[in-house]
Amino acid sequence: MCYTIAELHDEAGYVKHHIQKIAAFFLAMENFAAALKKAGHNVLHMNLDDTETFKDTTTLIDHLIKQYGVQNFEYQRPDEYRLTISLSSIQFEQTHCVDTEHFLLPFEEIPQHFKANKAHRMEAFYRKMRKRYGYLLNDREEPLGGQWNFDQDNRKALSKEDLTAIPEPITFQNSVQSILTRLKRHGIQTMGTIDETKIQLPVSRTQARKQLAYFCQSLLHHFGDFQDAMTCQSPHSVFLYHSGLSFALNTKMISPKEVIETAIKQLHSNLDNLSQVEGFVRQILGWREFVRGIYWANMPDYQNKNVLQHSASMPHYFWDGDTQMNCMKHALSHSLSHGYAHHIERLMVIGNFCLLTGINPNEVDNWYLGVYADAIEWVQLPNTRGMSQFADGGLLASKPYISSGQYINKMSDYCQSCTYKVKEKVGPKACPFNSLYWHFLDTHKDRFQSNPRLKFAYTNWNKRSTQEKSALRKQAVFYKESLGQL
Ligand code: FAD
Ligand code: SF4
Repeated sequence: MCYTIAELHDEAGYVKHHIQKIAAFFLAMENFAAALKKAGHNVLHMNLDDTETFKDTTTLIDHLIKQYGVQNFEYQRPDEYRLTISLSSIQFEQTHCVDTEHFLLPFEEIPQHFKANKAHRMEAFYRKMRKRYGYLLNDREEPLGGQWNFDQDNRKALSKEDLTAIPEPITFQNSVQSILTRLKRHGIQTMGTIDETKIQLPVSRTQARKQLAYFCQSLLHHFGDFQDAMTCQSPHSVFLYHSGLSFALNTKMISPKEVIETAIKQLHSNLDNLSQVEGFVRQILGWREFVRGIYWANMPDYQNKNVLQHSASMPHYFWDGDTQMNCMKHALSHSLSHGYAHHIERLMVIGNFCLLTGINPNEVDNWYLGVYADAIEWVQLPNTRGMSQFADGGLLASKPYISSGQYINKMSDYCQSCTYKVKEKVGPKACPFNSLYWHFLDTHKDRFQSNPRLKFAYTNWNKRSTQEKSALRKQAVFYKESLGQL
């Protein structure tokens, strides 16, 4: 038996990826090949030089089958629709697809939980998964602490004292010089920036386990508390109390089961941490598995959904970070310089801005798929098109995730040093998120005004005078027409 691991031109180029993302993937592949060899396996590890003449993945595999007189070809089930279609087109009789162990819900059970074009809600799915795996349950199989979800206890902003206590994130010094030279030689187009010599992401199983241990020891006790917080006043403002484990999880260096069970073990030493641990488990056992179900139930149609018919183009600052909106500047610069931004920056700053300004979801998808090191279509697409852009009409979320500057001001210190004034709704210095928020609600009132979760917002809008409404509309239209100058 021989394992084949290959750097592929079509995979490196189907979207413009962040340079750190490609470098980290290639380095993780090198490390995996080395680990397999050390364990006594035969490995064929091909780099971009070796695969240059093959136009795509299947052409390479067809060639290898012939070259080595392969009797039996096995591959691990890809997580993406695109690759699944491509690999299933291989015309070789002795081909077997093997399931992956890196999700908790077996692939063949997805249709029992998720139906195409039907709205599903994460909370119901999450409770089923908690019961199925017995995570955080008491002896009577009820939720530990009497609640399934401690979200209401979490979501705190960071006070001045909290800022000084944020721990330094764990990083790794992985040399990538030879990979960067190779990418340059082959003219692979990338986005974002990289330190010329090293990347800090975990790129081996050992490093992934160190990252998990560090998270459990130093960060988990405040994970839920500061999950939604944002700051520009700490040297550690990129990761805060987040685990940074998504790249390791999505590249299968560590399994979700191991991550969840290691986090739950922390509870034995301190039951006070239940709300923090539950919050973390919910992200992986709940959200991560849930978005995968939505993806597979709805592909390939999902990638074309655009119920709000948004068509605007992304402004330049998505690539250069050069904007006066302080929240966007920080969230974009985290993304461009680290290939990472935490969930609330992705959802309530960048995603919120794209939704309020009506950016075409195809452009939003391509940007998100490229910029984040953890971005693989099965997880990026439902998060972007569904959760963040509501382009699926509510298959994943019960309401659009939108907010005015008020929410960003509550959860961050960004507004304190912004050119725009968060308290102002109209005028030259008015925070763009304010008028854009009301304009979005006004524009889409036929779709959303009867949504119970938006009742309060529409009551508020309807109370405004005709002049006030007209001024807000005018301001929002002005901002939409001058997107590139914000
Ligand atoms: P933590 O905050 O420490 O959370 C722990 C883990 O929970 C994560 O590592 C991740 O595996 C899982 N998780 C949390 N939220 C989600 C979610 N909504 N969907 C799936 N898994 C989740 N996540 C990706 O892995 N890849 C993506 O391409 C991606 N794109 C996103 C795009 C948008 C618009 C939004 C709103 C979210 C996206 N997410 C994506 C989900 C989430 O933002 C990231 O998983 C998280 O920020 C990764 O950082 P972390 O490991 O520090 O996460
Ligand atoms: Fe962002 Fe508005 Fe606050 Fe500026 S004032 S940081 S644009 S929310």
